Amino acid sequence: MENCIFCKIAAKQIPTKAIYEDDDLIAFHDINPAAPVHFLIVPKQHIPTLADCTEAHAALLGKMALLAPRLAQEQGCGYQQDGQGEASGGYKTIFNVGPDGGQEVYHLHMHVIGGPRPWRGQR
Ligand code: 5GP
Ligand code: ZN
Repeated sequence: MENCIFCKIAAKQIPTKAIYEDDDLIAFHDINPAAPVHFLIVPKQHIPTLADCTEAHAALLGKMALLAPRLAQEQGCGYQQDGQGEASGGYKTIFNVGPDGGQEVYHLHMHVIGGPRPWRGQR
């Protein structure tokens, strides 16, 4: 897609330091982080919004969801429980959809937002 910033990042037309990449997905830090850890998981395929997804995208969406905990762990905001069942860490996973959902970039992406609070939390 012409003039789509995330297509350009996926195609390496805009240099961006990826924290993860495979044939289907790329993940990178948000340029305007809302918390100590804030990265985006982005399919390389141009899909404008979550509302444009169909059954055909189920595996891709599942892959995005399963990647979030793994990368969150690597980025230092993983969720865990200690031996006493005390929980720590954690993050939000967010798909903004459409104007009322606050979507700014119309190329599907999942925000992963976490790290020690307080957060700015503007996402
Ligand atoms: P949305 O509001 O569409 O859910 O989120 C888009 C996100 O992409 C925003 O949090 C914004 O900061 C981030 N973003 C926009 N352009 C760029 C860019 O060129 N590089 C990076 N790393 N993040 C971007
Ligand atoms: Zn795109």
